[in-house]
Amino acid sequence: MDRLWTPWRYQYITKAAGSARTGIPAALDAYPHDNGCVFCNLIGAVRWATQHGTPQADAERAGNILFQGEHCYLCLNAFPYSSGHVLIS
Ligand SMILES: [Zn+2]
Repeated sequence: MDRLWTPWRYQYITKAAGSARTGIPAALDAYPHDNGCVFCNLIGAVRWATQHGTPQADAERAGNILFQGEHCYLCLNAFPYSSGHVLIS
């Protein structure tokens, strides 16, 4: 087994551990909920911001959302293991 060494992720790991609500981008911090899940918090914050006056494109950009479907969404990883790393949730 090869190990991936990704030191640029260290900030994310250490910061995420101290965050009360993971997955919520700073620009969408007005989101008043905590779903207890990084992926549910991310899409919840994006959708809440859109419903409360933020243009959808701006909310999606803040959350690195590339696509929203009825049952899933696609987002970029802010601290990717490799270039082009995307997440489907
Ligand atoms: Zn979830």
